[in-house]
Amino acid sequence: MEQQDKLINIYLASLIPISAIAIGWALQNDPLRNLDGGFIALGLLTIFSACWLRIQLPRTNVHLTLSDALTILSMLLYGGSITILLALAEVAAGAINLRLRGTELRWKTMAINVLAAPIGVFAAYHTAIFLFGPLDQVVARNDFTSLIWLLLTITITLFAINSAIVSIFAAIKTKKSIWFHWKANLLDAAVMNVLGGLMAGVILKAVTQLNLYIVAATVGFFGVIFLTFRHFVSDARRSAEIAHREQQERYELAEKHVVELEHYVAELEKTADALQKSHEKFRHAAYHDALTGLPNRNFFIERLKELLLEGAEAGEFKFAILLIDLYRFKTINESLGHSVGDRLITNVGVRLSEMVRESDMAARFSGDKFGIILTDLLEKEEAAAFANRLSARISEPYMLDDRQVFTDVRVGIAFGNSKYAEAEDLLRDADIAMYYAKDSNEKHVIFDQKMHVRAVTRLQLETDLRYAIERHEFELHYQPIVALETARLVGFEALVRWNHPQRGLVPPNEFIPISESTGLIIPMTVQILESACKQVKEWQLRYPSAVPLSIAVNISGKHFADPGLVSQIKNVLAISGFEPSSLKLELTESAIMENAERAIQMLTQIKEIGVQLSIDDFGTGYSSLSYLHRFPIDLLKVDRSFVSAMEENSENGEIVRTVIALAKALRLNVVAEGIESIHQFHQLRILKCEYGQGYLFSKPQSVADIEALLADEGHWQHFLPQAPRPVPAAANISPLRLAN
Ligand code: C2E
Ligand code: MG
Ligand code: MG
Repeated sequence: MEQQDKLINIYLASLIPISAIAIGWALQNDPLRNLDGGFIALGLLTIFSACWLRIQLPRTNVHLTLSDALTILSMLLYGGSITILLALAEVAAGAINLRLRGTELRWKTMAINVLAAPIGVFAAYHTAIFLFGPLDQVVARNDFTSLIWLLLTITITLFAINSAIVSIFAAIKTKKSIWFHWKANLLDAAVMNVLGGLMAGVILKAVTQLNLYIVAATVGFFGVIFLTFRHFVSDARRSAEIAHREQQERYELAEKHVVELEHYVAELEKTADALQKSHEKFRHAAYHDALTGLPNRNFFIERLKELLLEGAEAGEFKFAILLIDLYRFKTINESLGHSVGDRLITNVGVRLSEMVRESDMAARFSGDKFGIILTDLLEKEEAAAFANRLSARISEPYMLDDRQVFTDVRVGIAFGNSKYAEAEDLLRDADIAMYYAKDSNEKHVIFDQKMHVRAVTRLQLETDLRYAIERHEFELHYQPIVALETARLVGFEALVRWNHPQRGLVPPNEFIPISESTGLIIPMTVQILESACKQVKEWQLRYPSAVPLSIAVNISGKHFADPGLVSQIKNVLAISGFEPSSLKLELTESAIMENAERAIQMLTQIKEIGVQLSIDDFGTGYSSLSYLHRFPIDLLKVDRSFVSAMEENSENGEIVRTVIALAKALRLNVVAEGIESIHQFHQLRILKCEYGQGYLFSKPQSVADIEALLADEGHWQHFLPQAPRPVPAAANISPLRLAN
């Protein structure tokens, strides 16, 4: 910056002597020689116009002023010397005026203008004289062409010198080129200068032909018009500025609106995006299982519908569905806890999805139920082969909580075909096949139409069973239980039969599973308990003995899981007035083992009532010996399969022997089931088995038949070794006949 200041100072200093020469020349050449009233008027007008008759044309850099024209006029009429002084006065007055009006004007800028003015006039005057000779002569010649050339010469020289001086000054100040400043600030002024020159010519013409005072008056008149015009122009400029500002404001407002609009659109897009995402999330949740992330039943059915439609269009069905149930999942879930159960399900889900192709589908329906769709099947056998691979893969051990857990599958398979109008029908058939697999303990079963018939029958049975309870269609048969030591009757096992109005007596294995799955087993058992207790109570009264007759009633696993069982037992005992110690409840191993800890609590509560407890079919289930001693039980009932095999195979004889030894160790009594031969009877007596039941003694019989038997006290005495055969009573039934 300092460098530039220095340069400017040098520049100004170098202009001072040149300007001084011009002024000096002017002063030496008797400037006042032609001074008259006309010049004073011209001079005042020039200064006045420099100060007040200056207007900038709107949106241009052009300043309209009369002073340039008046300066040239002065040069032509009164000579160069006085015009130099006039120019000096005009520029100085203009600058002072600007400063007085508060316009920021640097001293150096003012100085450059003041210095340039005399130099410009000096140069223009001498160039004109040099080219055209004395100027008053050119004016006097009244030759229009040479006057025009003269004016042009003066104008251009004036302009060239002035603009050059100012542009150099500006170039030093801003470090930009001289041409840049000339072009930016002075080009417009060039036009005005030429116009000013021409105007001077016009005024000159008027002055030479009219009187100077008239001209001054005319100029004054035009000055007034000019002022009015200036007022008008400044008005126009103001309104243009207002318009410009308003436009600017509108533009800014519009810009603000655009920004707001963009923001709004972005917000809208965000909302739409979020909506889309939540929609997708919702859709995903609606069609997927939360635990495994696999497709759910809804998704499965949707896909199935598509496949049925495609099949119907193509005229061929090349897909199968597999419904999968995890084997013994419930036991795992209840014994190892639900979190292990959940992880097992998740792991199974992973294995299943690894086994299927992209076009197939593995889905989880609920609990331990999964479904698979196999597409593009060439042969039906492929589905069965897949089920085998599936079983092999799923039965590989799972490491959960540092322990190995095993499971397997039961699979029902159904193939797509044109008979299926609804996806649900296909699913129902696969489901039927799956239940067959579970019932028959096969790994997979392919659906066939016969199963459907049986399923319908089962459904019918289910409906009938509800009525059976209302109508008391159950009938109890009683199978005697005999003390093997004495061959005397000690009690009965109550075995239910359903007296179906159309089908006659239905055996328990046909309806117990249905009643278990429908929950009807509970009201049914309550009825059985009540009528058995009432019946045996009556027999106890009619046939008194040292130890009152006992009654054993079977309790299903489903019922055992019901917390209401204890109060139901109490209730029945109260209603029937039956001695609790004569009631024996039979439970299977699996019913107790399903949830051993809970079983202990339940058994304890039942024991507190005074009722006795037996484990039925002992040896066929899966008993944990570590638990066995913790169960508050009284009796073990050795399963018929071991008893019946005693003769054929000494190994099975061993089993019975071991069970009896175990029972003794646990201080339990043993009942042998299914004694059919006298040999078995003898062997069991030798093994010190306390009790027995079986066809050898009696089949389960109706109340009437049992009453006949009760009347015959020494009925089985002849089975005892060396015991004399008793004489049968009249209504007695031969045990040999019964055994048939
Ligand atoms: P269970 O409790 O083990 O009953 C013994 C079954 O073996 C009875 O079959 C009986 O008729 C049969 N049985 C007895 N001795 C012999 C024999 O020497 N040879 C042969 N071959 N069979 C013999 P049932 O009456 O058909 O009952 C079958 C099963 O149904 C019962 O097995 C029991 O688990 C269940 N059940 C029967 N009645 C009821 C009941 O009222 N409630 C519940 N929950 N289950 C019952
Ligand atoms: Mg039983
Ligand atoms: Mg049994």
